[in-house]
Amino acid sequence: MIELVGVRKSFGKLEVLKDITLGVAKGSVVALIGPSGSGKSTLLRSINLLTVPDQGFIRVGEQALDFTGGHRLPGDRELAAFRARTGMVFQNFNLFPHMSVEENVMSGPVTVLRMPKAEARLLAHGLLAKVGLADKAAAQPDKLSGGQRQRVAIARALAMKPEVMLFDEATSALDPELVGEVLAVIRSLAAEGMTMLLVTHEMAFARDVADRVVFMRDGCVVEEGPARQMIEAPSQPATRAFLSHFH
Ligand code: ADP
Ligand code: MG
Repeated sequence: MIELVGVRKSFGKLEVLKDITLGVAKGSVVALIGPSGSGKSTLLRSINLLTVPDQGFIRVGEQALDFTGGHRLPGDRELAAFRARTGMVFQNFNLFPHMSVEENVMSGPVTVLRMPKAEARLLAHGLLAKVGLADKAAAQPDKLSGGQRQRVAIARALAMKPEVMLFDEATSALDPELVGEVLAVIRSLAAEGMTMLLVTHEMAFARDVADRVVFMRDGCVVEEGPARQMIEAPSQPATRAFLSHFH
């Protein structure tokens, strides 16, 4: 469902992604782990083109973009169509503060997909029920806990009916007691067969929910493999050293 081949990205002289090749099978969950600064966010952002790669090939579902050899940049419509294939959830929620919870979830379908408001409201209520927030539709985001806000952000991303979901440290900004409710929602999406690539520092969650784990360091994929093996018995010393911080 997601395929990256030879993806490179530099910021000035700093090469942040060095020839990344990676695949995520349809219906599978891949956890991306690694030290701060290793390029995990840049990799995720490249998949929905918040960051435009310098080199490489990226496919999501049926649509591929090729940046190799100074390939032309895609046009706006092509970019928009490509972005719409992925839903992204960030560390800091990024809800629209002046909109109610329901309006946050409706806004993408109404403005981007031109969905009638009544239909978008129904969709929003269904998704809010799914993330356990059916009773918060009329609330303003600032009245919610961090865990509730993050669940709204997930519902909002799902409202665009993405083929894949990308999570960038979705629980890192949460108080410890609120982490579980967000992980539970991600777990339920996995059980429904949603294709997901998630950056996380929750190693037990990665082991239990992901199919595969990818370890990145210094802009490179150092090692990848089945989740349990990667978390419990990685073969590379660098992966072992990184994981030792979590025990
Ligand atoms: P991670 O998510 O693994 O912590 P990032 O992808 O956020 O890593 O960052 C990798 C490196 O790229 C870091 O050194 C970071 O400072 C740098 N970087 C990320 N985004 C930018 C940017 N827009 N401009 C310049 N440097 C950036
Ligand atoms: Mg990051």
